[in-house]
Amino acid sequence: MYDYDLLVVGSANADLVIGVERRPGAGETVLGTDLAVHPGGKGANQAVAAARLGARTALLARVGDDAYGRLLLDSQRAAGVDTVGVLVGGAPTGVALITVDPSGDNSIVVSPGANGRLTPADVRAAASLFQASRVVSTQLEIPLETVAEVVRDLADGSRFVLNPSPPQPLPADILAACDPLIVNEHEARVILGDAAVGDSPEDWARILLAKGPRSVVVTLGAEGALVASAEGVARVPSVAVDAVDTTGAGDAFTAALAWRLGAGATLAEAAAYAARVGAAAVTREGAQESFPTAAEVEAL
Ligand code: ADP
Repeated sequence: MYDYDLLVVGSANADLVIGVERRPGAGETVLGTDLAVHPGGKGANQAVAAARLGARTALLARVGDDAYGRLLLDSQRAAGVDTVGVLVGGAPTGVALITVDPSGDNSIVVSPGANGRLTPADVRAAASLFQASRVVSTQLEIPLETVAEVVRDLADGSRFVLNPSPPQPLPADILAACDPLIVNEHEARVILGDAAVGDSPEDWARILLAKGPRSVVVTLGAEGALVASAEGVARVPSVAVDAVDTTGAGDAFTAALAWRLGAGATLAEAAAYAARVGAAAVTREGAQESFPTAAEVEAL
């Protein structure tokens, strides 16, 4: 019996957003709009997305002992995420400083802060969370050595899902644990490096699968996704919606997929459900604010 459908191990950031007429150059000061502060970070986003769908969700992360850390804890709890695994202190909360101009182009500076201090020892100390979780998902906004420890500490029978974002080449032990590895086109190209021969997403999926993961999912934005495993490669149809803001779509997709897999869905079934969740998320502004409930996914 598992207490949690999903344990997310990952980042939590405060996104600080200012609209500007023109993004400043070196040495320049420009005036902007009022500051907007949003809870973000891929780990925090995945946890909120899963909980909003109804998954029993826990987050293992680190935030600073500061106002942004409290904002992030509050937003997790409001969504119904168990924050027993959120560690506080050691560095300021991770922050993304975002300026966005009227055309939507942005410049972003990320200070990983406390996310960079989530250590392998923190993962080992959370052994009871791992024992209690059916599925564990991570991203790469925390140290790679911490992700490697997650893979070593998985409970027997639990499943590991990785969205390698921001992408970097991955060691064989992490790749071998992924079931699935979830990538968009950019992430696929970085992970494959020179091996990114072939131009179709089907080609990337096959080449990625040969690198060791038990399964692979390639997300294709408005085109939907495809799934690859020993049984072959299959397209997952997209859901036609009027896209307003794609921020967080990948996080919502990953969380939904991980939850459905844990509930016993096949990879193709889980990806089809996740595509509906991703589509619902792009119909609203923001990241966490845009994530749908199960009823909203049903109504889509
Ligand atoms: P990422 O944000 O990681 O680049 P994607 O943009 O591929 O991820 O989005 C993840 C999933 O969300 C897609 O596979 C798709 O199912 C869904 N999605 C994203 N954008 C759209 C869109 N414009 N219309 C319908 N579904 C979308």
